Amino acid sequence: MGYEKIWAEEPDKLNKDELRKLEKDGLDILNDIDKYAKEGFESIPKEDWSLFKWAGLYLQKPKEDGYFMMRVNIPSGLITNEQAEVLAGIGRDYGRDVIDITTRQAIQYHWLTIENLPDIFKRLESVGLSSVGACGDIPRTIMGNPLAGVDPFELYDTREIVEDVYRFFQRNSDFSNLPRKFKMSISGNVHNAGHDRINCLSFTPAVKEIDGEEVIGFHVKVGGGLSAKPYLAEELDVFVHPEKVKDVAIAITSIYRDYGYREKRHRARLKFLVADWGIEKFKEKLLEYTGELPTKGDCKLEKWNGGYFYGAHLQKQEGLSYVGFNVPVGRMNSDEWFNLARIARDYGNGEIRTCNSQNLVIPNVPNEKVEALLTEPLFDRIKLEPKNFIGYSVSCTGIEYCNLALVETKERMRRVAEYLDEHIAVDVPVRIHMIGCPNACGQRQIADIGLQGVKMKNKDKKMVEAFEFYVGGTLEKEVAQFNNKLKGKVEADELAPALTAFLRYFEENKEPNEFFFDF
Ligand code: SF4
Repeated sequence: MGYEKIWAEEPDKLNKDELRKLEKDGLDILNDIDKYAKEGFESIPKEDWSLFKWAGLYLQKPKEDGYFMMRVNIPSGLITNEQAEVLAGIGRDYGRDVIDITTRQAIQYHWLTIENLPDIFKRLESVGLSSVGACGDIPRTIMGNPLAGVDPFELYDTREIVEDVYRFFQRNSDFSNLPRKFKMSISGNVHNAGHDRINCLSFTPAVKEIDGEEVIGFHVKVGGGLSAKPYLAEELDVFVHPEKVKDVAIAITSIYRDYGYREKRHRARLKFLVADWGIEKFKEKLLEYTGELPTKGDCKLEKWNGGYFYGAHLQKQEGLSYVGFNVPVGRMNSDEWFNLARIARDYGNGEIRTCNSQNLVIPNVPNEKVEALLTEPLFDRIKLEPKNFIGYSVSCTGIEYCNLALVETKERMRRVAEYLDEHIAVDVPVRIHMIGCPNACGQRQIADIGLQGVKMKNKDKKMVEAFEFYVGGTLEKEVAQFNNKLKGKVEADELAPALTAFLRYFEENKEPNEFFFDF
């Protein structure tokens, strides 16, 4: 393997995280958590703090206080009502009632202590959930189509594939020492629900004529990713049969493990390897691992939906509907989650889906029950038809809990969106994403308007929170691009009026139904 060669021949070329991982594999932290839970936070050696990521845990700010943030994998966003009840109970009993939906469809808690973890792990395990691999240098949760299996716009029901690939990589020590995180998406939805080009590896719906027959399968893109140096994933000239998706996922993850950079941590993502090698060389290497694969067929992606599924819509199954709701900036409390679980069970078949837009879907509701479902008080806040700004606002965690944040985000994004809804009337959604630092967990680069937190000196020479503005991001098939930075910065206190003035021009000059990106 590439990294073992560097280790053997030039150990001084490995960064300090690599050296630590060779001393102790990230997954080994799982063997220590019970002991640490008995002996308390003070008993955890500082060099083990970063390994908690492999268990899906980060120490939140300030680290010395010993509170953890935990992410729970929800592959493709699929949750049952039993799982939702367990998630709600963890939030109530240990997480100070805060339960967030992330931009990778995962569930995130704050305020957990080391003493809480054994019981939390037991509860998650009892319903088939896990936080292992949700953070760390390992394959992360698999993003996918939240409507998988019920979607009239899916070419292929990806539920089994996602589950199979996820189970393969879960706690797999052959893949627990990657150069850094590895993000995958598998979706059969023609509206690009899996956000193909911002993942390290993505599978998107395609067809190909093989031996006179039209076969449904997938195209493959590699090398996407955000952070400070964002890249759009590039397409490999291959067509993958559904039963081969796992093999290809294993092969590409192996290439990343074996050849991904381990010298400088900021260059350790797959996107840098793909950019340096070029897509042709990457394909050649892939075929060494998989054997021959057919060349590309016809891409079946159509217009991008941004990950939004609001409203009640007919499913592919006759007589059933899915109902999509807005969760303002992805944050709910445990009572709401208990209610959600009950509603999904009483009106549907118990299933709930999380979306990468930080929202929710309840599928499998008989058409005649939709109206009654909508009278549930939960949906006074979690709305079916949200206003155009709060409904299309996304936010990362920000300074409240995140060690890397420069500014407060979540509550600020919610307040700003509500202000915009009061002051600007537009007939189309405007997608606004707010992030607290260049790491871009809130996917600032793909927003119509991206707001990135920075510090700046104000006119009184005081350091204050501020935002940079970026405009024009999209993952539309033919024109995918990251948004571009505008000149200057705006003080955080001035953000709402500055955005209002900016959007006023759009409001007054756009054509009816003209979208922000087309403006
Ligand atoms: Fe933290 Fe930065 Fe990610 Fe926001 S984007 S959650 S501030 S690391």
